[in-house]
Amino acid sequence: MAVTLRKYPYPYMGMLAINSDIDRCTLSEFEEIHRFLNTKEQTSIGEGLGLDIADSFWFYNKQHGWVDELPAGFGDTMCYCQGTDINTYKDKEKIIKYLYCGWIDTMHTYGNFNTAETPLWTRKFAIDAMKDLSLLRNYYGIQLRIWSDHGDSYNTQGFASGNSGGVFSSQSYHLDITREYGVKFGWGPHRTGSFGKESMLTPTTFTAGTNKMWVFDRFIGMEPYPNYHWVGNMLDLQLTQSNLDKLKTDGLYEIVAQHMGCGLSPKEDIRENQVFIDNDPIFPLEVQAALQNLKAEQDAGNILVARSVRLLNYNLAQLYVQWSYDTVGDKVVITTIADPQFGSFVPTINDVRGLTFEGVTADSKIFIGQTEVADVSYPAVGVAMINWFTPDYTDYTQLNLSDLLPPINLKEKKVNSAPFKTLKNI
Ligand SMILES: [Zn+2]
Repeated sequence: MAVTLRKYPYPYMGMLAINSDIDRCTLSEFEEIHRFLNTKEQTSIGEGLGLDIADSFWFYNKQHGWVDELPAGFGDTMCYCQGTDINTYKDKEKIIKYLYCGWIDTMHTYGNFNTAETPLWTRKFAIDAMKDLSLLRNYYGIQLRIWSDHGDSYNTQGFASGNSGGVFSSQSYHLDITREYGVKFGWGPHRTGSFGKESMLTPTTFTAGTNKMWVFDRFIGMEPYPNYHWVGNMLDLQLTQSNLDKLKTDGLYEIVAQHMGCGLSPKEDIRENQVFIDNDPIFPLEVQAALQNLKAEQDAGNILVARSVRLLNYNLAQLYVQWSYDTVGDKVVITTIADPQFGSFVPTINDVRGLTFEGVTADSKIFIGQTEVADVSYPAVGVAMINWFTPDYTDYTQLNLSDLLPPINLKEKKVNSAPFKTLKNI
């Protein structure tokens, strides 16, 4: 019997992530949302689900004024800096903590530069932000891999059509910086209303030739009103049973676009004239039920729920892993992941977690190069898999950054002299 690579980690038949934009989500909302989603604690929303769902963040937020008059408006959104001042911090410590533990895996652009007021977005803001982000990578192993576009026509840093983040000749251009730092996956040019994809990854090349990225689609909502389902109080309209069934029956991936920290009202009128609301409760009962149903699909071995970066990394590995089966040694040997956008690399175990080989014997081994992988299981006859990530239900709201990581003074360190640590946030 030939040895084959399974599409999804055993026994799952599909894979799903929720990728949430941070707009209008305060720090306290973020914490209660992720206590409910990620831990098994009793929360104000309900008993924690213990799912692996991550979020996004802004480094800057220039918007104040009228938005502060609304509940949880743009000006109150969780943000690394206070406004656009690189030397004044707002939620820095907690954002670093949540980056480190994996509750954040996406940069929702460098920040909110909506509206015509100054300062307008320029490349300089990316350079300044990278001073901190590079140190966090070098000292703490925090490596962001995902970008998602945000904002109105003034926030020109995006990659979607009409924005200039990937346009070499523009003042807004930053793709070279962002890519060199390590972002590999970007959302922006595509929005879809159909649920489920064979693969999330579309190879894309921006201007200036070498600026390749993996671009992924996110599911927003069903036609004919696709723009109005990606808010917390409408999550149940995205996670319908028929949508989840598609992942199972057709063997598909999906990344669901969300803004979990806010809602739209009135919910029953999914057309025009809706206004943003501060959800209270954050997730109404029907949304809680949809999330509990998603959890049940995972518990039944049908759909694996994973933070976006894990889903995308897995998708990449499953498509491009180079491997062979050595019948004499009775072993699967993985050599590289031949990433056509960023180049071939020798994977670490975290790059290949979940890969499942069928048609092997119970005595077979899995190697990366010369090294046998220890964290392997044999969940069924003829099946060997590199184990998926161990679930982490820790309530990180109860821990301080200093409980997890030694302090560093970001301003005193030089980027180039920093030691490089093993990457954590994957
Ligand atoms: Zn946004």
